[in-house]
Amino acid sequence: MKVYINGKYYDAKNARISVFDHGLLYGDGVFEGIRAYHGRVFKLAEHIERLYRSAKAIMLEIPMSREELTRAVIETCRKNRLRDGYIRLVVTRGEGTLGLNPNRCSHPAVIIIAGKIQLYPPSMYEEGMAIVTVATTRNLSNAINPAIKSLNYLNNILAKIEANIAGVEEAIMLNAEGFVAECTGDNIFIASGQRLLTPPLSAGALYGITRGVVLELARKEGLETIEQNLTRYDLYNADECFLTGTGAELVPVVKIDGRVIGSGKPGPITWKLIERYRELTKASGEPIF
Ligand code: PMP
Repeated sequence: MKVYINGKYYDAKNARISVFDHGLLYGDGVFEGIRAYHGRVFKLAEHIERLYRSAKAIMLEIPMSREELTRAVIETCRKNRLRDGYIRLVVTRGEGTLGLNPNRCSHPAVIIIAGKIQLYPPSMYEEGMAIVTVATTRNLSNAINPAIKSLNYLNNILAKIEANIAGVEEAIMLNAEGFVAECTGDNIFIASGQRLLTPPLSAGALYGITRGVVLELARKEGLETIEQNLTRYDLYNADECFLTGTGAELVPVVKIDGRVIGSGKPGPITWKLIERYRELTKASGEPIF
């Protein structure tokens, strides 16, 4: 595997950054997780745009243009002969001193890894997963805005640990007001009749690219899409529930906090959207070769 670091390609075993990099020392940086399907990078422009927005929010100047970065992502896929896989794009604050002042870091590090990912076992896509709500509250927007896809993922990791302890794969995180925000690495949707509902971004969710795609696909299918605050009560009483994310794609949820959702099996709206999503990943994206 060849890893891109600041304009050069390194074998995976030699792909290293400094122990003084503030990405490591303080989680100071931003990232994206991107998928390639059938030799094309899916929604690349959207991921690049979100990366630049995250960087702007933390006053991190990415040392290349959007076009240059787009080309570097494609080139990294090409060098790794990646047709189907997962791309991790990371920009750290760069090497600095043992103090958190970002002004001491002069050169941000840009890293691109083109590899593979499998988040959940295939059976979960057929049968649906059980998830739980956890005590760890989603970060407050005025502390670390969840819209920033930063390297500081401890909030999500603490929630994931709670999910692990409960014996499930994902956790629902509530915001400080008690409304549903999102899961540790996925957005959440419910279906109720012909309505598809998901929390607004202001509830403390990442502006998920899969979330956006699914909202669009749902409208095309004639569903009413609604972004509104949801409580656990709303989730328990939904007909269907599923999670969305670049890595996870669409995963049906059939149990929440021990309550069976709908029929206890992935429902027709979920199946339809999974099918439409798969069609879209086959038919679109930035060509690699
Ligand atoms: N929420 C969080 C916290 C995430 O980390 C992610 C990405 N893994 C998502 C939602 C889903 O976003 P996307 O569809 O853009 O991958």
